[in-house]
Amino acid sequence: MSQIDSRIPEGPLAEKWTNYKAHQKLVNPANKRKLDIIVVGTGLAGASAAASLGEMGFNVYNFCIQDSPRRAHSIAAQGGINAAKNYQNDGDAIYRLFYDTIKGGDYRAREANVYRLAEVSADIIDQCVAEGVPFAREYGGMLANRSFGGVQVSRTFYAKGQTGQQLLLGAYSALSKEVHNGSVKLYTRYEMEDVVIIDGRARGIIVKNLVTGKLERFAAHAVCIATGGYGNAYFLSTNAMGCNCTAAMQCYRKGAYFANPAFVQIHPTCIPVHGDKQSKLTLMSESLRNDGRIWVPKNIEDAKKLQAGQIKGSDINEEDRDYYLERRYPAFGNLVPRDVASRAAKERCDKGYGVNNTGLAVFLDFSEAIGRLGIDVVRQRYGNLFDMYEEITDVNPGEVAREENGVKYYNPMMIYPAIHYTMGGIWVDYELQTSIKGLFALGECNFSDHGANRLGASALMQGLADGYFVIPYTMQNYLSDQITVPRFSTDLPEFDEAEKNVQAEIDKLMSIKGTKSVDSIHKKLGNIMWEYVGMGRTKEGLETGLKKIKELRKEFYTDLFIPGSKEGLNVELDKAIHLRDFLIMGELIAYDALNRNESCGGHFREESQTEEGEAKRDDENYMYVACWKYQGNDETAPELLKEPLNYQYIKVQTRNYKN
Ligand SMILES: Cc1cc2nc3c(=O)[nH]c(=O)nc-3n(C[C@H](O)[C@H](O)[C@H](O)COP(=O)(O)OP(=O)(O)OC[C@H]3O[C@@H](n4cnc5c(N)ncnc54)[C@H](O)[C@@H]3O)c2cc1C
Repeated sequence: MSQIDSRIPEGPLAEKWTNYKAHQKLVNPANKRKLDIIVVGTGLAGASAAASLGEMGFNVYNFCIQDSPRRAHSIAAQGGINAAKNYQNDGDAIYRLFYDTIKGGDYRAREANVYRLAEVSADIIDQCVAEGVPFAREYGGMLANRSFGGVQVSRTFYAKGQTGQQLLLGAYSALSKEVHNGSVKLYTRYEMEDVVIIDGRARGIIVKNLVTGKLERFAAHAVCIATGGYGNAYFLSTNAMGCNCTAAMQCYRKGAYFANPAFVQIHPTCIPVHGDKQSKLTLMSESLRNDGRIWVPKNIEDAKKLQAGQIKGSDINEEDRDYYLERRYPAFGNLVPRDVASRAAKERCDKGYGVNNTGLAVFLDFSEAIGRLGIDVVRQRYGNLFDMYEEITDVNPGEVAREENGVKYYNPMMIYPAIHYTMGGIWVDYELQTSIKGLFALGECNFSDHGANRLGASALMQGLADGYFVIPYTMQNYLSDQITVPRFSTDLPEFDEAEKNVQAEIDKLMSIKGTKSVDSIHKKLGNIMWEYVGMGRTKEGLETGLKKIKELRKEFYTDLFIPGSKEGLNVELDKAIHLRDFLIMGELIAYDALNRNESCGGHFREESQTEEGEAKRDDENYMYVACWKYQGNDETAPELLKEPLNYQYIKVQTRNYKN
């Protein structure tokens, strides 16, 4: 019944990628110079891809919306990047990283892709070290590691709490070298508005120059998008404000399948929402769960006093604290995966044990770690995260709040789950090619490797694997039969048509001249998404959510107000374009969540849970990648196609983090 071909190479799992590389078709150096590739995005996925393809000798056009590639959202990544190096001699191996990732994703990811990811993970670290990325080191000079959720080894490489920034500077220096050599041409402050298809293949893009407001055309033999995730459909998230899904949605509208949109990650350790004027949430890195312990009061009376502001967390004695993750999941404790930790926090807060004025917060406490390691060591590990927390909340988690009978109680942080990462994305096959020939998707904007839940420190690994180690091979395989295809003129009718449509949509938005700001409608979308398509989903709620999103789209198209004009810089117009696409995305998430009547990973259908409140999968009916196909307009429900998942090398089990 499946129409989906994921083009997984034949052969044993551990040999698939090696065999692929040995037999893929190549493009010789003289021909590479004749071939053009567009890479949209300069985050870790886009910058590493553009640098690698440029270094190989292709002509690369690289685009980003920021004024510098270094401002891509990847810069925000804090905690680290995984790799199966086994530096700690604690039992790590390629197979174990593969196994942890498949299990962490609740058995909804492809075995072959994930194995390849684990296989190239070690090379990523070598590549980054060679670029000068200053990873933390042990006293003897060896690279240091820490642990992230869902695993029992230490395989996370890090640079303080600024791993993304340091990795991005490394990728940026590789990219800059190619820009200097002339193989990569960089276009900053350009936004992709559409992909141009000629004879069934992606051959170019329409971009908006964000400074002049003018539309421009670019042609190439292949197009890669590496434009990040769609978490901002929820308005409040840990993503940078500029993160958007416009490029991905335009590819979807042109026929690229969108896979598993319901798989959205809610991160357990974010600074709680503090009011309705807020437009951004802040992540407190998962690395903090290495040493921080999560708790709420054992007694409901203490919780009530905390909510009323009558006492502080540090006033509650050790014996009156419920370290609920350690209690429920003894084997993994505070390092259970994100979906499990998030739901456990929600469960406690729903029962009334929340610790702030809204009742939607739990504590993350370093008292024990500081007692064991000393404040200097703890600050060395998490100093900048402590500073960030203090700057935002005016509470210093490294400060003693109370001392009693020789026990020091430090100020705990307050945290609560928030939208953070999107496992779903543009569907790609093993070669990272979408369902449109010549259109590739890399990094967070594809769906490829994380299944229903991403393990911490695996996004940076996947983005860099895609850019440095996968696309350089698979792109050649695609382009090898394109060497006689001459460069395309941007005067072709397909470019005229695409640009005309983009312009018409911009004109339509500008002409509404209603009364509502973009942000006010976006905020409404966020509320609908969080309430009906958020951490706990039901059939009834999802149907209501879908209805409300449709109504909101009507409001958007009849009452939106965009100040200024379409000429020149107009940030409100750009946000309106993003919101148009978040509305389509929001619906897509709801359709997928409604269809998937099981709980798995980050997707929790309340109808499908065990007696203990754990997620209950339905492998018989839902062991597939849900691929959604656009039906020609935004109103019609998309068509569902299924890519079945087959597990040959891993025994599919119920996830167990208890023992
Ligand atoms: C606060 C935070 C902390 C995190 N910490 C970690 C961590 O410790 N470890 C980990 O593994 N992961 C972490 N993640 C996740 C990880 O950072 C991201 O998944 C990853 O960086 C995404 O990289 P990317 O290259 O796919 O996309 P991005 O870095 O989002 O880059 C997208 C690029 O596309 C461009 N772009 C977007 N739309 C358009 C358009 N229409 N036209 C042109 N250009 C466009 C942007 O300009 C940008 O250059 C964290 C995420 C957050 C939010």
